[in-house]
Amino acid sequence: MPTPRYDTLIIGQGLAGSALAWQLIDAGQRVAVVDDGHLSSSSIVAAGLINPLAGLRFTRRPELDDWLAAATTWYAALAAAFGRDFYHPLPMLRLLRSAEQRRFYERRGQDPLSRPLLDEAFTAATCPEPLHAPFGGFIQRQTGFVDLPNLLDALRHWLRERATLIERTLRYDEIRLDDTGVELMGLRATRIVFCDGARLRDNPWFGGLPLMPEKGEILNVIVPDWPLRHIVNGAFWMVPQGDGEIRLGATHDHHRCDQQPTDAGQSTLLAGFAALRPDLPPPRVTQQVAGIRPGTRDRYPLIGHADDNAALWVFNGFGARGSLTIPWYAQCLAQHLVHARPLPAEADIGRFK
Ligand SMILES: Cc1cc2nc3c(=O)[nH]c(=O)nc-3n(C[C@H](O)[C@H](O)[C@H](O)COP(=O)(O)OP(=O)(O)OC[C@H]3O[C@@H](n4cnc5c(N)ncnc54)[C@H](O)[C@@H]3O)c2cc1C
Repeated sequence: MPTPRYDTLIIGQGLAGSALAWQLIDAGQRVAVVDDGHLSSSSIVAAGLINPLAGLRFTRRPELDDWLAAATTWYAALAAAFGRDFYHPLPMLRLLRSAEQRRFYERRGQDPLSRPLLDEAFTAATCPEPLHAPFGGFIQRQTGFVDLPNLLDALRHWLRERATLIERTLRYDEIRLDDTGVELMGLRATRIVFCDGARLRDNPWFGGLPLMPEKGEILNVIVPDWPLRHIVNGAFWMVPQGDGEIRLGATHDHHRCDQQPTDAGQSTLLAGFAALRPDLPPPRVTQQVAGIRPGTRDRYPLIGHADDNAALWVFNGFGARGSLTIPWYAQCLAQHLVHARPLPAEADIGRFK
């Protein structure tokens, strides 16, 4: 029997591998995806927040309009294809942490490009939710969250029907390279794209790239009688899940890179909750998860092929904002592979040479 021939083999069905598979299949490519059941997926634990002005300084990246447009288009296409919404727009309360941070907010308000993202400011006394917010804050627009577990599940079923989905771990020594491409697990392809998240560190071709993995933990808690109507974003964030359930996150740890939920993580998050709602007793915890954000030094992704082999590609490094940026960069990489359009310079791994 002849070996099945593909254009692209994708390793990893997190948000990055899923979005790339979608774009390539849409462009007419034959695609196979290998995934080990989200064994190390950060997408499956992430809160999926979309926050166009991230960080303490509310930085607006120059690529933001492209990111937002691609994300809006792709999540709408998924909603149409699967008959349900995965992206939930919701205004975000940005709680200021100091008088200095208020100045960053005021400066952001002077930028005409940022103004459409900013809604009214509030003081400690006029906060729209019953929160302890001594420095006040402001309401941010074009924010929301993506229901990543359900989105990945829907895409997994879709891949099973449309493409080849191999549900097991790929060992790097199973990959054979020759002049016409790659062969693994009895499949031949023109190229392989690693969308392997934080496991990139062990990748023999791309492990040397400057990935900065960061562990994060999240709790689900029950807070009866608080119909939270916003995403809250201060030192910690809260995302309403309905029926009194709230996702509460997240911790940041550069030193431990495992996926084990810890007592220390739970205590930190519950202390964060107590600081925001000192009037309430500690909430009941229903779930605790941990994962590793596949970040980079400059907070831009890692896209490109190996120096000595154009059949080996990486699509990774989406850090803490994959829900916002992955749809755009998946579109860019697909356009590059199919139509030889240039890769965005800020994401090209060539920037580290
Ligand atoms: C606590 C926490 C909170 C976060 N919150 C947010 C947020 O609010 N908003 C946001 O945008 N982002 C958030 N993120 C980051 C977000 O998760 C990432 O940006 C994004 O999901 C990365 O997706 P990925 O597909 O690159 O990696 P992953 O989701 O890690 O996917 C990699 C996949 O490849 C598989 N795999 C790897 N190697 C192999 C192999 N050899 N064989 C088979 N399968 C393999 C893995 O099991 C996994 O399924 C958060 C992350 C964490 C940990």
